[in-house]
Amino acid sequence: MKFHRSPSSRSLPAAFLPLCWLLLETVPLGYGHLYNNRYAGDKVIRLIPQTEEEAHALKKMYHQLKVDLWQPGSISYVSEGTVTDVHIPQNASRTLLAFLQEAHIQYKILIEDLQKALENGSSLRTQRNRRSLSDYNYELYHSLEEIQSWMQHLNQTHSAFIQVFSIGRSYEGRPLFILKLGRKSRAYRRAVWIDCGIHAREWIGPAFCQWFVREALLTYKTDPAMRKMLNHLDFYIMPVFNVDGYHFSWTHDRFWRKTRSRNSRFRCRGVDANRNWKVKWCDEGASVHPCDDTYCGPFPESEPEVKAVANFLRKHRKHIRAYLSFHAYAQMLLYPYSYKYATIPNFSCVETAAYKAVRALRSVHGVRYRYGPASQTLYVSSGNSMDWAYKNGIPYAFAFELRDTGHFGFLLPEMLIKPTCTETMLAVKNITMHLLQKCPRESPRVWSADPEKADADQRVLGTGWKLFAKTRATF
Ligand SMILES: [Zn+2]
Repeated sequence: MKFHRSPSSRSLPAAFLPLCWLLLETVPLGYGHLYNNRYAGDKVIRLIPQTEEEAHALKKMYHQLKVDLWQPGSISYVSEGTVTDVHIPQNASRTLLAFLQEAHIQYKILIEDLQKALENGSSLRTQRNRRSLSDYNYELYHSLEEIQSWMQHLNQTHSAFIQVFSIGRSYEGRPLFILKLGRKSRAYRRAVWIDCGIHAREWIGPAFCQWFVREALLTYKTDPAMRKMLNHLDFYIMPVFNVDGYHFSWTHDRFWRKTRSRNSRFRCRGVDANRNWKVKWCDEGASVHPCDDTYCGPFPESEPEVKAVANFLRKHRKHIRAYLSFHAYAQMLLYPYSYKYATIPNFSCVETAAYKAVRALRSVHGVRYRYGPASQTLYVSSGNSMDWAYKNGIPYAFAFELRDTGHFGFLLPEMLIKPTCTETMLAVKNITMHLLQKCPRESPRVWSADPEKADADQRVLGTGWKLFAKTRATF
């Protein structure tokens, strides 16, 4: 394991400083003025406990220091061999580093100074200015307000192809907008559901949802595959699922994950919108404690955002053939089951689709994705949207964990939006084209819960993945 990486900040020659001041003038408000410098000196550290004793000691330390875990989703997942990425505030990092050195636990600093990484990652933002929506820049992260204006703009300018409507309101009263993409003329068509941003801090998700719409509009006339997709299917796209959380991640806490609902007995706010679904709700891999990042909520569908989407999917489940949900980070393509070690009835159809998608994705920039049932590939987690969609009759249910594998983590720089979205687009097109072909059903097969057998079962495309053998991301 390597131990150090130099800070990614670069110093600018003095001659450029006046220019920088001028550019800074164009930074839009609402970016929290880079969160009032609140992450200055914070670090992100990767640890892989080598023994159960180390894992136990780390868990204790994490509880004590109240760290922000980036991977895995919850402290309970930390175990021997598990890749653990932890965001540690400046004042606690000295304590943690001293403890690690004393206990001879190996670690690697992924991000030396989180504030600097945040500023570097959004460098393009300093060059942006308010342009018309027809020049919408898909290579930037956009605030909720910008995304909603963009949707309304498309609704007006592409009315033959796009319909924007709200399926309800969030906890804080924001509309939950869906963009329907497809030709209006025919009444009943098979459909694909795509949602992004269930977890607030995973900003690359909403960026991809927007990119998908852009590609559809740009290439419909020239790309036969896109034309076929849009001629035969409707797409329901929800660019930001967790609108309150996303907004909060722009204004207050860049690393917020949950919704923003209040709890009657605890001061901690929010529920994990990917543990709040009525499928083995609040069982393994979910927390009953409101202060945990994987809190399942007081009851299934307690979150208005989850209830609204569940109602919509229930209403349209006869037509919806695929459910695709976009998360970050880990570079994985996951399918059910997540809540148990068992094989889905249409395993071979789904697995073939996943294999082709991952292969297509890799062909663009050589980026490797692991794929497989979520319980085997990531961890057992109950009450999530993908399992729920599958159990409610949507035959193809997938969750993407987009780039990267921890180098930038949630702070994937804006310059990587384009390559990430380009390759993901190809994967989504592959899955969609697969839907348009017939695929026979087959009998269920039980996956082994034995880790060694599970490793043999695990499909990994390519080699060199030892380090991430037990990566447990924040799905
Ligand atoms: Zn997620």
